[in-house]
Amino acid sequence: MTIQTQPLSINEIQKAADIIKAGGLVAFPTETVYGLGANALDEAAVKKIYAAKGRPSDNPLILHVLDIDGLSSCVEAVPQTALKLIAKFCPGPITMILNKSKNVPYATTGNRDTVAVRIPAHEVARRLIELAGVPIAAPSANTSGRLSPTTAAHVLADMHGRIDAVLCGDACSVGIESTIIDLSSGLPILLRPGTITKTQIESVLGVKINQSAATLADSVAPGMKYKHYAPDAPMYIIRGEPHKVAEYINRRISESGLPAERVGILTSEESAGFYTCGHVINVGSIKNLEDVARGIYAALHRFNEAGVEIIFSESFRHTEVGLSIMNRLEKAAGNNIIDI
Ligand code: AMP
Ligand code: MG
Repeated sequence: MTIQTQPLSINEIQKAADIIKAGGLVAFPTETVYGLGANALDEAAVKKIYAAKGRPSDNPLILHVLDIDGLSSCVEAVPQTALKLIAKFCPGPITMILNKSKNVPYATTGNRDTVAVRIPAHEVARRLIELAGVPIAAPSANTSGRLSPTTAAHVLADMHGRIDAVLCGDACSVGIESTIIDLSSGLPILLRPGTITKTQIESVLGVKINQSAATLADSVAPGMKYKHYAPDAPMYIIRGEPHKVAEYINRRISESGLPAERVGILTSEESAGFYTCGHVINVGSIKNLEDVARGIYAALHRFNEAGVEIIFSESFRHTEVGLSIMNRLEKAAGNNIIDI
């Protein structure tokens, strides 16, 4: 069932909440990406998420709650570090790993004693959580290994027939998954970069976060070991001086013998004019990396829809939000990186 009106009425969200309460699966918009939600406290419901996504059962889920009270019910204790981050960034795109409370089943946490919790900002997500009256476990609403969805159309194209309903809202305003910070032991550890950056978190907590995304250990962030975010076509990231990158890509297109529209090019606004052919998608200015983050999954989905046979992407700087963009693009490219 697709639950859809624009804007979403309370009745539609109530229907979706009833499905969650009855142990079903509902995809819904959040500010990061669309989530695939189930009652986080219902083991059978949570198992349906893994089945619908084809997700390995040791890859734990993020719980979505309304506020500190909701968060408290899922965790053993709320440390000062979490309170500081909540005061500054919540509701918003940040997920905290804390020690789980007894009422969160191990099926939800991939057998871990810790749990990932987030307080989303999106109004539809918030209303859904409120009406369902339970924490909602929600990974991205895509089959495992495929691109995260940032529109309802992306969800329907990938998940139709596997889930009970989709709440169709607007395109996601952040466009990439939340920042994940582990607060379950003494030292905060950044497990996944997002638009809330390491530097911002360090300034709120007043401590250096030493272990960055670059040193992610699979044993710590179980989800990160799986291939993620992959478009259908092989993808290459080309690093170097912008003019030379464009020259290289233009040459590869003419040598490939492919019709130009079968070659995807992901470019910044600054370099878009350098390309003489190809299916060019301009994801925004390097001066506004939030815009770029919002556009990258949408661009990769468009390459899939256009049936391109190869994708070339420019590289963005590896700092702040750029680090999060490159984390997603490098995964999409399966680490095919060419330095020129
Ligand atoms: P997704 O919701 O699909 O974006 O994935 C959620 C991410 O959160 C995955 O990379 C998980 O490995 C990570 N995660 C969830 N729960 C935990 C946990 N208890 N400890 C560490 N990482 C977690
Ligand atoms: Mg995901």
